Amino acid sequence: MSRILFTNANLLDGDRPAQANTSVLVQDDRIARIAPDTAASETADCDQVYDLGGATLMPGMTQGHWHGSYRGIDFTPPPVGLEQPPGYLMLLSLKHAQLALSYGYTNLIGAAVGDALDAQLKAGFEDGLFQGPRIMACGRWLITTGDCNDDPHFWWWGIESMGAQRICDGAVEFRKGAREEMKQGAEVVKIFADGGHALLYGKGHNSMTRDELDAVVEAVHDRGRKVRSHVDTKAGVLTSIEAGVDLLDHADEMDEECIDAIIESGTYVCPSMYFPKALLERLKADGEGLENSPMGLAMQEDLESMAKVLPYAASKGAKFIVGDDWGTAMTPHGDYNRELELYVEAGVPALDVIRWATKHGPEFMGLGDETGTIEEGKLADLLVVDGDPSKDIKLLGDRDKLLAIMQAGQFTSSSLQGAK
Ligand SMILES: [Zn+2]
Repeated sequence: MSRILFTNANLLDGDRPAQANTSVLVQDDRIARIAPDTAASETADCDQVYDLGGATLMPGMTQGHWHGSYRGIDFTPPPVGLEQPPGYLMLLSLKHAQLALSYGYTNLIGAAVGDALDAQLKAGFEDGLFQGPRIMACGRWLITTGDCNDDPHFWWWGIESMGAQRICDGAVEFRKGAREEMKQGAEVVKIFADGGHALLYGKGHNSMTRDELDAVVEAVHDRGRKVRSHVDTKAGVLTSIEAGVDLLDHADEMDEECIDAIIESGTYVCPSMYFPKALLERLKADGEGLENSPMGLAMQEDLESMAKVLPYAASKGAKFIVGDDWGTAMTPHGDYNRELELYVEAGVPALDVIRWATKHGPEFMGLGDETGTIEEGKLADLLVVDGDPSKDIKLLGDRDKLLAIMQAGQFTSSSLQGAK
């Protein structure tokens, strides 16, 4: 049995405001005891004692929109960066998953990938071949013919030939598509309910009919798995909720009415607002006035309306998670914290953003009783941060400030000096 004691911690438990001068005892893979420093007198029985000197102890985070094989994807004709063979894309997925872990993300939730890479990488991590985050695997996204990501502008190229997507038309094909992705290990099935969020078909068109939506949700729920839906418009958000979709991606046009429906239904939302912001900045930097193109203007509108509604969502306790389209030319893997910083800039209290990054993701994964907050009995997925991220969210983007990362009681990195 191993016993590790952290003392003098500024405890951010993933839910409540910081509690200074706290001790946390980790026994084997779990959190055994949380107490004020004054009450902790068990140092003699511990293998290691770390006096954190007021540094923050918080839960590991969950990256909720994960495309592990993406690198440098751009809005240009091919090559776009997904042409490499599956083995190479797997190496990229491994590299990026370990990069995310080094930034404190102990969990990843897939948001679509080809070649069943998520499920295979998950198996490799679980078998101990490599160290990496826990994964909720996704497979190919399901999309109707000619829809936004079945790019009509480059129809001869065919992104599906690179394994990233599966075309489905009609309820029967959606059911079969979902079942085949689940057969190959998808625990969450990604669909495109409408366009928008900077995709080439703008907003205002439905990608899927209601019977297609119902068929996929039923097929996935029948096997105890979850559906995540790319959606932009208010109508799309409300229809997806009605159909029983578990997680909304982007939801750019959501307003207070949508937030109320999101809360009432218990639907999770991954707003992933950094990607459109980064893309807009790129359009401006190009100097060709593309920020005033129909797509540029739609994106500006989306960003403004989203920034307006996020504080309302936070104040109502909506189940938002963090995660974004990392791996594009505008959003390289490793920049993960830019998204969190953007939410704070939009007026969401840092403590709420931390809750989105820690507590909600594992709940969506079905691991809410196991991880996501620092509570006695839960797995010890912990970060030690030099400073208090609830006062300065930027700290989480600086790896030098991440003094230690622990996953299920094992340090995956640490610069702490302990005493025996
Ligand atoms: Zn995505």
